[in-house]
Amino acid sequence: MLRTRTAGTLAEVGAWELRDPRLTALLESYALAHGLDPRATPASAAVLPYMEHAFGTWYVRGGMRELARAVYERCLARRVEFRFGTEVTGVLEKDGRAAGLECADGTVTEADLVVAGVAPGVLDRLCRGTPVRGDGGVPARPGEASRVTVLMALRGGRPQGTPHRTVVHAMDREAELAALSGATPGGLPEHPTVTVLRPDDPALVPDAGHEAATVTAVVPAGVAAPAEDCAEKLITAAGRAIPGLRDRLLRHEVRTPDDIAGETGVAGGAVPVPALAAAGGRLLQPSNSTRLPGLFTVGGWSHPGGGLPHAGMSGALVAGLIVEGPEFRGSQ
Ligand SMILES: Cc1cc2nc3c(=O)[nH]c(=O)nc-3n(C[C@H](O)[C@H](O)[C@H](O)COP(=O)(O)OP(=O)(O)OC[C@H]3O[C@@H](n4cnc5c(N)ncnc54)[C@H](O)[C@@H]3O)c2cc1C
Repeated sequence: MLRTRTAGTLAEVGAWELRDPRLTALLESYALAHGLDPRATPASAAVLPYMEHAFGTWYVRGGMRELARAVYERCLARRVEFRFGTEVTGVLEKDGRAAGLECADGTVTEADLVVAGVAPGVLDRLCRGTPVRGDGGVPARPGEASRVTVLMALRGGRPQGTPHRTVVHAMDREAELAALSGATPGGLPEHPTVTVLRPDDPALVPDAGHEAATVTAVVPAGVAAPAEDCAEKLITAAGRAIPGLRDRLLRHEVRTPDDIAGETGVAGGAVPVPALAAAGGRLLQPSNSTRLPGLFTVGGWSHPGGGLPHAGMSGALVAGLIVEGPEFRGSQ
């Protein structure tokens, strides 16, 4: 009789299939990058490194803001009206349907449809505490993750052939997993896994005699991460990828979970993960339609989850649901 065994988690895929601990660390870093413990991340997450290996990744020339600018200009061309700096305080409801928005400046805007791109807790507040999200059976996800990022201006140009992205792995896997679970004050172990990005992009620097680089590490959402302590650990770790980093450092800025919370409105500065199958639905995001007819959700906190490509897909799904109707299921 042929007996097969099936890996249930990403850590099991690594333990069963890989002989070199460096390859295991590389595989597991695809879970850690989202704040997920590889021992509890479904084996389906192995699709993430596969996709990257097979298809590569995208970099937006000029940085992420250029993507926002391009979308903004496309919307203007389509006669979309923007109101910046205006806080939405409530979703209006009429005859059991979403009927518009109330804003903090006192304005009320009536609408046939409302599409919300905010975290679940924020949306519940806007709907006066009524949970409107679909998929009521999807349990809340414990232990969401945030990021600490150090943005660095470096003296001296970017050497030719420099890799765009280097992952510096943690020296102590157990200490890192303990920190991710929230057991470490400040959220970071002494030597965290860090991602170092060194884009080959003249738009980021004043001249060829300078380099722009960022270093990111994952911390539990809501952790009080002291900015300069974190910067110290991240810059030390990044020094393994950028020779002479401290001597080249002209200035740096730190972004903590508090900063992310302030900019996105999401409690603890949590960053949504891409939806992953299995794990009892724990890593799925709610559907894009809600219990309130006429109200839809897009963005990282809706299906198919976090990350810009996924957020874009959620927009396409909502467009389909609106135009084609509730039976729309995406591309056929
Ligand atoms: C440090 C960091 C690095 C990342 N790196 C990458 C990466 O390399 N690649 C990638 O694909 N993804 C990355 N992500 C994830 C990506 O940024 C998110 O998945 C994506 O931005 C989610 O888009 P969104 O529209 O759902 O939410 P957001 O981009 O958070 O937009 C939501 C907006 O709604 C506004 N808002 C909230 N409440 C209200 C209200 N009541 N009234 C009015 N406006 C409100 C917020 O101010 C915010 O502007 C990163 C995230 C972080 C934090």
